Amino acid sequence: MTHISDNLLRVKQDINELETRFHRPQNSISLLAVSKTKPTEDIIVAYNAGQRLFGENYVQEAVAKHEALSAYKGIVWHFIGPIQSNKSRQIAETMDWVHTVDREKIARRLSEQRPENMPPLNVLIQVNISQESTKAGITLAELGEMVDLVNSLPNIILRGLMAIPAPQESEEAQIDVYRPLAAAYERLAKENSQVDTLSIGMSNDLPAAIASNSSLVRVGTAIFGARDYSNLNK
Ligand SMILES: *Cc1c(COP(=O)(O)O)cnc(C)c1O
Repeated sequence: MTHISDNLLRVKQDINELETRFHRPQNSISLLAVSKTKPTEDIIVAYNAGQRLFGENYVQEAVAKHEALSAYKGIVWHFIGPIQSNKSRQIAETMDWVHTVDREKIARRLSEQRPENMPPLNVLIQVNISQESTKAGITLAELGEMVDLVNSLPNIILRGLMAIPAPQESEEAQIDVYRPLAAAYERLAKENSQVDTLSIGMSNDLPAAIASNSSLVRVGTAIFGARDYSNLNK
């Protein structure tokens, strides 16, 4: 059995090496530890090793962990799963970031439901860059309209873009898939000073994502090991 703290160290070293390889500044890429299906004990091990950003996919599980770990100061919770509108309130009341905003209705609800005493919810617009893999996400053609909408809502703040591409055979092919997204992100960041986050890269495509200007990688398996979905009751 490998240890979560060793895995974290290795993933951070991999990221540092990729920053060097692709001429990115050292430590400029954030690491989101994706803890879905994993017990809170595993999150605590990662926390004690210095990890602070955690990602969850399922609302019930995310809310339960947020509550159970409220004594662990400085955790930043990212919601990275699909959002059903009847669950948006729980997300608005607990999470610090949401990566999966791709519908007007959800954006409006998150803003309306964000409690007054919390800072604005940081949101990323999810873009569908390889249509066959998932139905989630808007197209790049729809991006301008969604950006205007999010920017008009008072209690959410647009921080950037997120995508989950279909896996490709090679690093070059994966970079090709990311290219239009990276270009759209660059334009968006030029036009919106608060935009600073491109959430791409998972355990199996870190090089292509970091070559494509990722600023936050979402890594689960390489930190916590393979997932067992039978643990999850949802
Ligand atoms: C599960 C998940 C990850 C982490 O995937 P790994 O392959 O385990 O690194 C990243 N992003 C999203 C949106 C996920 O659902």
